[in-house]
Amino acid sequence: MIIILKSDITDEQTDHLVQHVESKGLTPHLSQGTFRTIIGVIGDEAKLSADQLRSFPGVQDVVPVLPPYKLASLEAHPQPSVVDVSGVPVGGGHLAMIAGPCAVESAERMDTIAASVKKSGANILRGGAFKPRTSPYSYQGMGLEGLRILRDAGQQHGMPVVTEVTDPRNLDMVVEHTDMLQVGARNMQNFVLLTEIGRTNKPVLLKRGMSATITDLLMSAEYILAQGNQDVILCERGIKSFDNATRNLFDVAAVAAVKQLSHLPIIVDPSHATGRPDLIPACALAGLAAGADGVHIEVHDCPEEAMSDGPQALLPDQYAALAKQMRQLAAVLQPNSPAAPSPTEATQ
Ligand code: PEP
Ligand code: MN
Repeated sequence: MIIILKSDITDEQTDHLVQHVESKGLTPHLSQGTFRTIIGVIGDEAKLSADQLRSFPGVQDVVPVLPPYKLASLEAHPQPSVVDVSGVPVGGGHLAMIAGPCAVESAERMDTIAASVKKSGANILRGGAFKPRTSPYSYQGMGLEGLRILRDAGQQHGMPVVTEVTDPRNLDMVVEHTDMLQVGARNMQNFVLLTEIGRTNKPVLLKRGMSATITDLLMSAEYILAQGNQDVILCERGIKSFDNATRNLFDVAAVAAVKQLSHLPIIVDPSHATGRPDLIPACALAGLAAGADGVHIEVHDCPEEAMSDGPQALLPDQYAALAKQMRQLAAVLQPNSPAAPSPTEATQ
C-alpha cells in the first residue's frame, strides 16, 4: 500500500500516521521527494483500512497495491479455476453451453426444449422457477413444481441444471433440486443471499448487476468465496446504457478485463445482453473470441407462448446453427482445449 502525503503535512501528523501503521504490525518506509513525501507500507495490507488512512490529517490519497477481492483475484490463484457442475467442467478451456427457456412453463415444453438443445450440443440446461420480475403483476414462475420439472428434464436428457434462487428462504429447496445456483443481475448485491449461498456446496452462476462495475462483480463473488464455496462462475449479461436499440449494453471488454483480474471462469449471456435474437449469434461468438468460458442462451420452441422473455428467445433451429458455429470457433481459438471438438466434428 502507498500513502501519499499532502505537501503541508506536519511532522507530528507524519509521526502519528507512522505509529498507526506500526501499531497494525506493518512497516512504513518514508520516501521524501522534492515536492511530496510518500509512505510505502510493507506487510499484510488487509490489516489496514484505506478509508481510515484517508481520514488521517495530512493524507492526500492511499493506493492499495492488492485488489480488494483477495480470493477472487489472480494473485490468489494464478491458474484458471475449473468449476465442476455435476460432471461438466467449466473454465480452463472447458466451455459451458447453457441453454433452455427463460422460465419453466410445463413438463412437456421443458422436455421438448431440453431434447432440442441437448441435440445441438448444450451441456447444461437452464430454466427459471423463481422469476425476479420488474412488475409484481408479471409471471413469477412455477416455484417448487418448476424446480421438479427442470430437474426431471435434466435427468431425462443427461444434463445438469441451473436455476435462479431469488430468496434465501427458498435456498434449501433450490439446492435440493439443482446442480448450479443462479444469482440474477437484480440480486448480485443481495449480500445476505450471497453469504448463504457461500455456505452451500453448489456451484454458482453469478450474473453481473445491470449497474455493477467489474470490481462490484468480483466483490460479490468474494462474498461467496469468503464463506468457503469456491465454485463461482461469473456471467456478463449486459449493463444499462442510454441506448435502447438493445435491451442492455453487451460489455464484451468486461470478459477480457475479468480474465486479467480473476481466476474465476466467466461466461456471456447475449440473450439478456441484447434482447434481440438477430444479435445473439454475433455477440455469443464475440464473447468466445474475448475469452469467455461459455455461453448462456435462452431457447424456446414457441416464443409467442413464452411466459417471460419470449422476444429474445432463439428457436431450437437457430440455437442448433449457433451452437455449431460456437464449436467451430472454440476449435480455432483453443485447438488443444478439452472443450474444442475435433476439426471433423466441428465442421459437421
Ligand atoms: C434470467 O436468466 O432469466 C434472468 C432473469 O437473467 P438476469 O438476471 O441476467 O436478468
Ligand atoms: Mn430471461
